[in-house]
Amino acid sequence: MKIENKRVVQIHYTLKDDQGEILDSSAGKSPLPYIHGVGALIPGLEKHLLGKQAGDKFTAVVAPADGYGEYDEEQVFEVPVSEFEGDDELQLGMQIQLDTESGPAIATIVNMEEDVITLDLNHPLAGTTLNFDVEVVEVRDATKQELDHGHVHTPGVH
Ligand code: ZN
Repeated sequence: MKIENKRVVQIHYTLKDDQGEILDSSAGKSPLPYIHGVGALIPGLEKHLLGKQAGDKFTAVVAPADGYGEYDEEQVFEVPVSEFEGDDELQLGMQIQLDTESGPAIATIVNMEEDVITLDLNHPLAGTTLNFDVEVVEVRDATKQELDHGHVHTPGVH
């Protein structure tokens, strides 16, 4: 059975950046289950998975635009520390949730000075070319209930 929309797919994957550093991997864990075509995976990876079947192994190179987006300098801005008074202690590299005009967003603290911190709303992998090593483990039709819920049902997970 080939991968197409509304099929449940399980994959093993290892994600590396262009320097070969491993950013994420399912190695040693259960394969990742997802429903194809509902936006569960980044579009660039789904494009490579389409039409593959169980047992297929391949490498997918995904450009930032099809991955976590280009890095946008305008998403980096300074905020007075006073706006965060009463919050947990702020630390460099910490991720904090912000309420923005377009809803809640995760920002990373990329610089700290005495009374001003610099926040970066870019995804940590924005601007990164993603190199996936993928193995397709299983392909099956999704149940009606899975499609209604928009996620995969595995034993113990509903
Ligand atoms: Zn469910």
